[in-house]
Amino acid sequence: MKAAVIEKHGELDELHVADVPEPHAARGEAVVNLRAAGMNHLDIWIRKGGRGAIPMPHILGSDGAGVVAAVGPEVKGLREGDEVMIYPGLWCGRCPQCESGQQSECAEFALIGASVPGTFARKIALPEQNCFRKPAYLSWTEAAALPVAYLTAWRMLTSRARLVPGETVLIHGIGGGVAVAALQLAKRIGAEVVVTSSSDEKLAKARALGADHAINYAKVPDVAKAILDALHGSRVDVVVDTVGTATWPVGPQVLRKGGRMVSCGVTTGAAAEMDIRAVYSGQLTIMGSTLGSVPEFRQLLRACQAWEFRPLIDSTFPLAQAREAQGKMEHGQQFGKIVLTME
Ligand SMILES: [Zn+2]
Repeated sequence: MKAAVIEKHGELDELHVADVPEPHAARGEAVVNLRAAGMNHLDIWIRKGGRGAIPMPHILGSDGAGVVAAVGPEVKGLREGDEVMIYPGLWCGRCPQCESGQQSECAEFALIGASVPGTFARKIALPEQNCFRKPAYLSWTEAAALPVAYLTAWRMLTSRARLVPGETVLIHGIGGGVAVAALQLAKRIGAEVVVTSSSDEKLAKARALGADHAINYAKVPDVAKAILDALHGSRVDVVVDTVGTATWPVGPQVLRKGGRMVSCGVTTGAAAEMDIRAVYSGQLTIMGSTLGSVPEFRQLLRACQAWEFRPLIDSTFPLAQAREAQGKMEHGQQFGKIVLTME
């Protein structure tokens, strides 16, 4: 079958489409005929070797949706023809965190497409418990775009930051999948949202999606002051940071006392300096967040159905153009999700 693979870690030209053996369903597993696979920054990081050595050739991709083609022994809740979307995490199922439903805090937590074969392929074999019914109102492209970015944003805003209606959220670097997901979900929850970007075009798109304030950080001398000016003296309750080095110092300058800052990624770098006094005198809470648990994924799917919520698609590419698609993401040219389609 065709799949987008790397044979060694490296730059974009290491990603290519090749013929690989078809997967088979082991005990407790299903084989899914993928119809679409969403792309994430994570895929680029794995391509570059950020997760260490993995068996090669390796199929990238953590997001996907498709039709169950076969089930292995002891699969009870799935049958051939079921339309499913994929929960991207793998967990041990035995530790206290797993037993309490916090799978993403499992010490053995791993991602499909990180150390095991991913979704940029015609087919994938995966545990039955990773397959969730696709809501009928979502297209294949939308279902494949949802899991990683929207689950990450959901956990950041709800379980971690405990965002409530009427609060103000600052989202840095609008355009990336998680940032756009956080904007869309925060508006649904009933928050006032401030976004930043260096692109006027992306800021205009964010406004169209409901952002209340849009600030071009490249055009203002002091981004923290620009944010506070836009809020007419009120301050931010929650900061969502997926950017890292470039934006980290801004959060403590604009948060209210008792404010919360949540990080899930570092697209501009991992090192940051901050004045610790701002943390204790401001009584700030700084939190990390990774993906989300199985119960959170269920909550997200239920909320999406109740809201008839759709993820924002930037563009689709056929599997054969996986490299072009990933290049677009690597250059930060997208606004929303880039999805591969398997026709
Ligand atoms: Zn565990």
